[in-house]
Amino acid sequence: MEQLKQAIRERGNVLSNDVLKVDTFLNHQVDVNLMTAVGEEFARLYRNEGITKVLTIESSGIAPSYMAAAQLNSSLIFARKKKSLTMNENVYVSKVYSFTKQETNEITVSKDFIDSNDTVLIIDDFLANGQAALGLIDIVKQAGAKVAGLGIVIEKSFQNGREQLEKSGYRVESLARIHSLENGKVTFVDELVM
Ligand code: 5GP
Repeated sequence: MEQLKQAIRERGNVLSNDVLKVDTFLNHQVDVNLMTAVGEEFARLYRNEGITKVLTIESSGIAPSYMAAAQLNSSLIFARKKKSLTMNENVYVSKVYSFTKQETNEITVSKDFIDSNDTVLIIDDFLANGQAALGLIDIVKQAGAKVAGLGIVIEKSFQNGREQLEKSGYRVESLARIHSLENGKVTFVDELVM
């Protein structure tokens, strides 16, 4: 998605060879126009899959998921990273190792919001080693629901998340695929000269 790639080039900040900071438009300040376009693109890609729920993870997954859910006419559910005080024991729980924070968190979703009749589109801001995506898939499976596929805003293709997910048979649609962040420069997969 050209508009997204342009934002990454112009407003992203390469922190190291494997971490990209995008809090100018996605992880802190939200570029509403860009996130609307991102959500519309996810909706276009999954339009014919009978999606009944969009599932993401708080907090950065919510902005890109909102318009996708609106366009697919489905509900949007975000997994919580901290169990809320008002949540009872009626929850699906999965463990997720965080690449950026280097710690394991439990994510939870109320059993009230996903069941075996659902077809779920999973959306996240980044795909690195696939841990967040696999945790969300685990929750959909616990609910007995179907995973239609994944929608990723920024994939770091030099890490093994896509491989993990495709190996298990899941469809992965990433709107920007980064080949490398070496020398402070973002190189996209589709810019590679073979
Ligand atoms: P994974 O679970 O695929 O290993 O990592 C994905 C999660 O880690 C995403 O939900 C995202 O919050 C975070 N993450 C991974 N890599 C980056 C990165 O380069 N930049 C930012 N801002 N977040 C990242």
